[in-house]
Amino acid sequence: MKGKSIDVAVIGAGPAGLAAAIKAREAGAGNVTIIERAEAPGGLLFQCIHNGFGLQRFNEDLTGPEYAHRFIEKARDLGVNLLLSSMVLDIEADREMVVANSRDGLMSFQPKAIVLAMGCRERSRQSLFIPGTRPAGIFTAGTAQRYVNVEGYMPGKKFVILGSGDVGMIMARRLTLEGAEVKAVVEVLPYVGGLIRNEVQCIYDFDIPLMCSHTVISVHGQERVESVTVAKVDKNWQPIPGTEWDIGCDTLLLSVGIVPENELSLKAGVALDPFIGGPVVNENMETSVPGIFAGGNVVHVHDLVDNVSEEAEGAGLHAAEYATGKMRASESKITLRAGPNIRYIIPHSISGESDVTLFMRVKEPADKVRLSVGNIYSKALRAVRPSEMLKVKLTGDELARLDRSANELTVSCEQKR
Ligand SMILES: Cc1cc2nc3c(=O)[nH]c(=O)nc-3n(C[C@H](O)[C@H](O)[C@H](O)COP(=O)(O)OP(=O)(O)OC[C@H]3O[C@@H](n4cnc5c(N)ncnc54)[C@H](O)[C@@H]3O)c2cc1C
Repeated sequence: MKGKSIDVAVIGAGPAGLAAAIKAREAGAGNVTIIERAEAPGGLLFQCIHNGFGLQRFNEDLTGPEYAHRFIEKARDLGVNLLLSSMVLDIEADREMVVANSRDGLMSFQPKAIVLAMGCRERSRQSLFIPGTRPAGIFTAGTAQRYVNVEGYMPGKKFVILGSGDVGMIMARRLTLEGAEVKAVVEVLPYVGGLIRNEVQCIYDFDIPLMCSHTVISVHGQERVESVTVAKVDKNWQPIPGTEWDIGCDTLLLSVGIVPENELSLKAGVALDPFIGGPVVNENMETSVPGIFAGGNVVHVHDLVDNVSEEAEGAGLHAAEYATGKMRASESKITLRAGPNIRYIIPHSISGESDVTLFMRVKEPADKVRLSVGNIYSKALRAVRPSEMLKVKLTGDELARLDRSANELTVSCEQKR
């Protein structure tokens, strides 16, 4: 074991980790070190070679690698240390962390502050319990994306994609462009799970059959997938008997949800939100363990990387303040409560003393709604969808209206009367 003095250690060099590290250096932290298990920084962005990144932040339409490159360059210019091909194996509540790589073996660090930026992972077939045989030819959409975009392999020729999240829809287009036949995108919900722009640009523009309110109920084939059985579902997502039919295919892609990657957070004793699976955070993006902060997909799954960077900058800034002894003790006493049609809100609590950006998702799609935060913020919205994250900035004017004695603030998204 070797020791090293680090002010802020960031776990993960995806867009969240890079933005947090840059901000931590800019805020005056001395030794800022990112520990990344992959050989190169950039996280998920390196396999996202399509455009659509950075529209908000740079007002430019960048690919994933182009977006990542801007942050990697800046981190290097600012002297952020990058410990690549290195895996964080364990963290204790006192922030002692164990890291391993093939050069140095096991190492132990005790940074003054930590930023969790481990991203998320895809749900697999096991978590869906689809009956049938266990042939080759079943992949998560992200794995297939890596094969096609990074490794240069086509995982099949005739695809059925289960789930219409953004990864599934982007892969439907990508595979079509590579000459494969995407026989159907099958979605259990009555609406698509991803962004409208992906529904239009990846599904409709390429005439790919989309079947909402349907699911895959069985997989067939011995050596390799030969077909899947699809059925219509009722409003409780249960297959309707008599609606089944088979679709011939050699590959089934699963795009059935992404969950924050928090095994390390649990080891450190960080409290997780049981509903979204990420750490409970206050407005400083500080978790329940003092000195451990979090940002990006490890907290909640984002659809736009621009929001990942913004949120993680908050984590990096406050981690630097904590490490340099400049952070005021958190006074985030006001808990944000999810009211009608709100699925979750990040952060979980605020102080009401500083400007803060709230990120949230609705439970159900709805038209002509009013989004309110207690009686301090209200905005009419034409339409909301679970896939499109909502963002509310609470600044001086709104916060001045806050009842300081309140310990709860309800966020709601109700149909306008
Ligand atoms: C297919 C797809 C398409 C997308 N398309 C768009 C788009 O068009 N526009 C857009 O704005 N956004 C898009 N996104 C979203 C965006 O890519 C993600 O929101 C963003 O990458 C999340 O950043 P992150 O840093 O939180 O996580 P990640 O990018 O996943 O980075 C996490 C990093 O942590 C590392 N790590 C994890 N555990 C450890 C450990 N124990 N030790 C060391 N390292 C560890 C991982 O190796 C990884 O590099 C897309 C995402 C996907 C999957």
